[in-house]
Amino acid sequence: MSDLMAAQKAAADPRDRGGPAQPMLIVDGFKKYFPIRAGLLNRQVAEVKAVDDVSFFVMKGETLGIVGESGCGKSTLARLLMHLIRKDAGQLILDGDLVGEASGILLDGLRRSLQMVFQDSSSSLNPRLPIEQSIAYGPRVQGASRQVARQQARSLMEKVGLNPNLFGQRYAHELSGGQKQRVNIARALALDPRLLILDEAVSALDKSVEAQVLNLLGDIKKELRLTYIFISHDLHVVRYISDRVMVMYLGQLVEIGPVDTIYEDPKHPYTQALLACRLNMDPHERVDAAPLAGDPPSPVIPPPGCRFHTRCPYVEDVCKTTSPGLGDVLRLSPKQHLAACHMVHPRSGHSSAPAFAA
Ligand code: SF4
Repeated sequence: MSDLMAAQKAAADPRDRGGPAQPMLIVDGFKKYFPIRAGLLNRQVAEVKAVDDVSFFVMKGETLGIVGESGCGKSTLARLLMHLIRKDAGQLILDGDLVGEASGILLDGLRRSLQMVFQDSSSSLNPRLPIEQSIAYGPRVQGASRQVARQQARSLMEKVGLNPNLFGQRYAHELSGGQKQRVNIARALALDPRLLILDEAVSALDKSVEAQVLNLLGDIKKELRLTYIFISHDLHVVRYISDRVMVMYLGQLVEIGPVDTIYEDPKHPYTQALLACRLNMDPHERVDAAPLAGDPPSPVIPPPGCRFHTRCPYVEDVCKTTSPGLGDVLRLSPKQHLAACHMVHPRSGHSSAPAFAA
């Protein structure tokens, strides 16, 4: 961890800090438990363990995909990164500086470096503001003059494929879903971020529009030298856009590695099952793994030991009592592959070999 921080601090240019082979963002031990209150005195009676001790890093210039079923904690994690909700534990380090009230980067700086695009393109836009003003709003708040902010908004509209002369004075309700999401991307870019968090940003779009927006994101990333965290439940989309993938289950990280390794040789039974469940018309792409049965257990009382043991076809006694752990993710090379499982489960069969790092 300290090695990572030292390497990050070595570079000077804010956009190049950390160099191409260094992590830009380090998340160390994030936890978020939401209290459940009940009774006349509104006492806390339980808590939802939405994110439970999650650590990972994001390399400068990469796209890190985050996948998992609904309720696995991926969107809560995104909101924690943006400080839209308060974390209960953990540290966030950006370019080697701790983000927080007491030291290092303050939240204003973090929010300029990190921007987020949400799934619901309509509710992210003010229905009373024309598109051009909506995009110019961020730069205006940051102190840009009306003229400069307007110019910036028009240039961003061109960058995301919207003609400012045609769309500048339209309102959100006059746009299609894909056009609204392009506006949201332009709004996120208006503050000159270095990392975009895309939370199910293309999930609500038609497939043809989804492909256009994905290509747009790829072009913008290259042109502006951005880094992405791409959250989605769609495994095809994540494979298309990501360099590395992390898989979450019930608030925890269960597998992480380069995208091709995860998709061609998934190690964790949950990842194997997720990949087996995806729709695929190509018989050569099919993964022979156990299907995913039943719903995830409640995050209020997660199962002891391995949280996946209630659904895992390879469960053994040790899984019910001892959490497998993932190892030191923060010392991982971006090319390494880790999975939190007591056993190795190659697709060809079962082995009792210990946990692995390939
Ligand atoms: Fe399955 Fe046990 Fe591995 Fe958990 S630790 S995924 S229950 S084999």
